[in-house]
Amino acid sequence: MILISAGHYPRKPGGGCNPALDINEHRECVGIVDCIEAEIKRDSRFDYKRVPIGTLSSKVKWINQQQDVDISVEVHLNAFNGEADYGCSLYLSEKGKRAAGFINEYMQRYLPFRKFHKMPMERPLAFLKDTRPVSVIVEPLFADNGTMARYLLHPRSHDIIGRAIYLGIKKYLLLT
Ligand SMILES: [Zn+2]
Repeated sequence: MILISAGHYPRKPGGGCNPALDINEHRECVGIVDCIEAEIKRDSRFDYKRVPIGTLSSKVKWINQQQDVDISVEVHLNAFNGEADYGCSLYLSEKGKRAAGFINEYMQRYLPFRKFHKMPMERPLAFLKDTRPVSVIVEPLFADNGTMARYLLHPRSHDIIGRAIYLGIKKYLLLT
């Protein structure tokens, strides 16, 4: 069972917004998760559920009530100083590290950015720290870097990001 989650919720859309480009972190994450879902549906071998939109604590509670979860993946956009130019996948566990590596491998292949880092999250969000399943937070780009953010204006960007994340999840599940 795969759990997929869009970061944040409509009232608090997250720090990865870019008002100049009308980019809202939560909304973009929902669009990317829609595309991950479409990919999973196309490949009938995997069960999945979408984590209901809500506060982080409600998501954590819901995730911990699910049975037989192989991996739980939440999508975010990052923001830092307007110049950071990489994507990243964050984890806490060794299995999470492995999944993060596979997701990055496909983001590197399909997205037009050069650098993808995988790293243990320094001050881990509850999504990683307080959930039972193997979990990864994927941040494909920095929304406050105009060059990266403009990629989201491309009509197929959600499809491409969603596909890359799906292929990474799939590789993790098939090789683990
Ligand atoms: Zn976020």
